[in-house]
Amino acid sequence: MTAICIRGGADLLKYSATIFLFLSLLVPRVSSAQSAPTFDGKSWWDYVKVLADDNMEGRETGSPGLARASAYVVDQLKKDGLQPAGNKGYYQPVKFISRQIDESGSSLALLRDGKPQKVTLGEEASFNTRVDLAPETDAQLVFVGYGLHVPEKNYNDYAGVNVKGKVAVIFSGSPSDMSSALASHYQSSSERAKELRAVGAIGFITIPNPAAMDIPWSRMKLARTRPSMELADPMFNDWKGVGLAVTWNPEFAEELFDGSGHTFAEIAELGKERKPLPTFPLTLSIQAKTRLITKKVESANIVAKLPGSDTQFAGQYVVISAHLDHLGIGEPINGDKIYNGAMDNASGSALVLDIADKLHASGVKTKRSLLFLFVTAEEKGLLGSRYFASKPTVPKKDIIADLNTDMFLPIFPLKILTVYGLDESTLGEDAREAAKKNGVEVQADPEPLRNIFIRSDQYSFIKQGVPSLAMKVGYAKGSPEEATAMKWLHERYHAPSDDVNQPVDLEAAGKFEDIAADIAIEVADAPAPPSWNSDSFFQRFAGGK
Ligand SMILES: [Zn+2]
Repeated sequence: MTAICIRGGADLLKYSATIFLFLSLLVPRVSSAQSAPTFDGKSWWDYVKVLADDNMEGRETGSPGLARASAYVVDQLKKDGLQPAGNKGYYQPVKFISRQIDESGSSLALLRDGKPQKVTLGEEASFNTRVDLAPETDAQLVFVGYGLHVPEKNYNDYAGVNVKGKVAVIFSGSPSDMSSALASHYQSSSERAKELRAVGAIGFITIPNPAAMDIPWSRMKLARTRPSMELADPMFNDWKGVGLAVTWNPEFAEELFDGSGHTFAEIAELGKERKPLPTFPLTLSIQAKTRLITKKVESANIVAKLPGSDTQFAGQYVVISAHLDHLGIGEPINGDKIYNGAMDNASGSALVLDIADKLHASGVKTKRSLLFLFVTAEEKGLLGSRYFASKPTVPKKDIIADLNTDMFLPIFPLKILTVYGLDESTLGEDAREAAKKNGVEVQADPEPLRNIFIRSDQYSFIKQGVPSLAMKVGYAKGSPEEATAMKWLHERYHAPSDDVNQPVDLEAAGKFEDIAADIAIEVADAPAPPSWNSDSFFQRFAGGK
């Protein structure tokens, strides 16, 4: 080849044309439908085994374990010939402030007729350190039902109650006539904070809906003294002005309603069926004293690029994302203190790595560029993805889609695919097509109470106007698979037993990867970028890019 440079003009042209013709024959030009690599689940599980190994110490944000896992991911990306696309090689550093409650210097009491009644931390209630808790709070309590204000539905739980200077008591959930997307959006922390500030509440107490608790209180209380995090950049500070956040054990919630003319049992019964809830003042006030331990923490997102092959489209990006962080080392359960996070979310990170590797091996080139993104601090409130989606390392306007994978749970055969965001954008059609090709049915979110659409990183992109999808291995209501999934949630979710010694269905994982890769290729090769459906609630963010 070096010979080209010594040849004359015309000759050179002819020669290069021949080379060009020859090269273009080598480039795979089969249509995306045929060229997608196939997966057997085994290579995926091999990645999971590395990422969820005890040596990674549960990959907590800012920990040496997550740094080790990140270094491993970067090595794999290099091996797959992907280009660095962070702002420090493959990395996009992110700064955080971590907050941890020091319970020895904190207390909580309910006051009835001026008489304090001590609240046992961990048993009855715990502080939520996602909020920068004020050192002291003393305020009246008001029950505000679901605590939702949804202008689209002309729905406002705050309309008939005075919350100014008080602490709002909120029952988690939403009324049944509200779509899951709408209900999820207004329950997100930034919307919650905005509303509380607007009505002048100085704090809030959340009572989890017993009908929709993924994690039993016995395990929630173990996590209460772990550090919470917030992005250090003040532009991301949602909770400014809110000084108290407490989560109340539903088993002890009756005490909050004493003397109010209502009982918690009645509220829980209505909430279970997603019926309208009353709002009313409570007869108690709350007194809180808090001591926080704050620290600066640094971590990083990882970004790699597989450049697109089409000169016109290569400047646009399809993001394939997963969070790499998990909970780290915590309170031991059955003698195990490493929260390995095999399904949550070594499984999603492994899928992204596996797709990158197989695309590389099969030589598939999509027209648009693919961006492989591993985010940090998902477990701290989608913080890494929020940072990336607002300050991406490629031009924001050129990100056309996010396909996110978080805890897709291949623990039984894949017959139904649950697609979050199925009816929100044209990506839903891509998902339907890819699923059909692989002989799998699709369904929209069957469990709106769990708010899954806003509980992972796709939501950070949605809020920036980017059409996004997330998927899981699904199940039909009342099926044995549903029972298996529920058992998994109660026993392993956010517990040390979510490790590599659990049963897994490799065939289901492989088929899931087939579908995920098909969608990515389809979207990256499509004549037009995806768009929000005209009736989608999330279309409102489309201007945010
Ligand atoms: Zn998680």
